[in-house]
Amino acid sequence: MGSQKQEQHYTKHNVNCHFVLGPIIVGAGPSGLAAAACLQQNGVTSLILERSDCIASLWQQRTYDRLKLHLPKQFCQLPLLNFPENFPKYPSKRQFITYMESYARHFRIEPEFKRAVIKAEFDNANGLWRIQTQGCDYYSRWLIVATGENADPYVPEIQGIERFDGAVLHTSLYRSGSEFSKQRVLVIGCGNSGMEVSLDLCRYNATPHMVVRNSVHILPREMFGVSTFSVAMALLKWLPLRLVDKFLLLVANFTLGYTDGLGLRRPKTGPLELKNATGKTPVLDVGAFSQIKSGKIKVMEGVREITKNGAKFMDGQEKEFDSIILATGYKSNVPSWLKGSDFFTKDGMPKVPFPNGWKGENGLYAVGFTRRGLLGTSSDALNIARDIGDQWRIINGLKSSSASHILQI
Ligand SMILES: Cc1cc2nc3c(=O)[nH]c(=O)nc-3n(C[C@H](O)[C@H](O)[C@H](O)COP(=O)(O)OP(=O)(O)OC[C@H]3O[C@@H](n4cnc5c(N)ncnc54)[C@H](O)[C@@H]3O)c2cc1C
Repeated sequence: MGSQKQEQHYTKHNVNCHFVLGPIIVGAGPSGLAAAACLQQNGVTSLILERSDCIASLWQQRTYDRLKLHLPKQFCQLPLLNFPENFPKYPSKRQFITYMESYARHFRIEPEFKRAVIKAEFDNANGLWRIQTQGCDYYSRWLIVATGENADPYVPEIQGIERFDGAVLHTSLYRSGSEFSKQRVLVIGCGNSGMEVSLDLCRYNATPHMVVRNSVHILPREMFGVSTFSVAMALLKWLPLRLVDKFLLLVANFTLGYTDGLGLRRPKTGPLELKNATGKTPVLDVGAFSQIKSGKIKVMEGVREITKNGAKFMDGQEKEFDSIILATGYKSNVPSWLKGSDFFTKDGMPKVPFPNGWKGENGLYAVGFTRRGLLGTSSDALNIARDIGDQWRIINGLKSSSASHILQI
């Protein structure tokens, strides 16, 4: 928060050093911005370090044009500032970015851009976190990790992929089907991204073949005019999770029909239970399913190997393709730069599950690693701001005040 950050600068062994009075937040995505805003409401200044050159870089630089929020806007807004009233129920990617930009402007959040954190470690000798970027070291009592569950594209090993003559790209580089018009495209992965990219390809007269290696839960985005997510949230207040899963599947089977026959086998575990246990999100259908039914999106079993011109599949089929799109998801990058802490797993997720995975030791915090999208981000940001706010007031000799009071302003 450029205008308000409080720093002391000095040089040590030719490295620029900054001592930051408030917390350092790594990442200027929705989670980093939410944490900064909530801290500000608690009277705490902070500094955000962001590797790219803009806020919400995932949304601005790594998502396809046609993307809309998967969940209704009331489940995706950040604390303290709602989406504009006139935004639709499912805001577009552009509208979400506009909202993020006005959020940052509203709270005067000015991250330091092009500041990739390459290492962060707690120094027991002085009780500070040392956060290293290219050419600059930062020191603070508090480190807030906001680099996201989707920091880097995840690309599994696929036999023979290096032999393929056509284009191979991850969905993070896919913008629109216009580049693939009339092409035969192999889409590897059948999560929300795989389904939506396949649908987009259909709209540009490409022929997508979508690989469904494992089972997948596909649910209608809405049930009887109400978002499926809202229905699930409401039912969970009264019913046990497994019963809610049963209900969701009953309605899904009623509206979509039997998906197994189309190569989309449902997992044995229900959609919400599976999400809680593994983080695997059910697909919320925005139109891909009808294209699968009509045969425009072809569902393929797992890939055995990629060849020079196409792919061989597990069921023995062999097909030619012009391009391959990897809808294989993302991964956290925390283990690559956070050292000396065992708060995160080797996959870069907090070891302690939601709702308690936001606070580590020695002033370490995590926001946005709940596998609950932006709803989880809000919960983390409010908890972190309250916690650091209390410490801040003690350190600065201020009377402790209730964070909930401050946050209602
Ligand atoms: C296609 C797609 C659609 C989605 N739709 C929804 C939806 O509808 N609803 C929902 O709730 N969620 C959705 N999500 C999940 C989405 O990831 C989150 O909602 C949101 O973007 C998470 O915000 P974040 O700030 O935690 O992470 P990110 O948005 O990933 O932001 C993290 C930031 O940290 C920066 N960073 C990473 N490493 C470093 C480093 N070492 N140093 C400095 N900076 C670093 C990154 O550049 C990035 O700007 C979607 C995700 C994808 C991929």
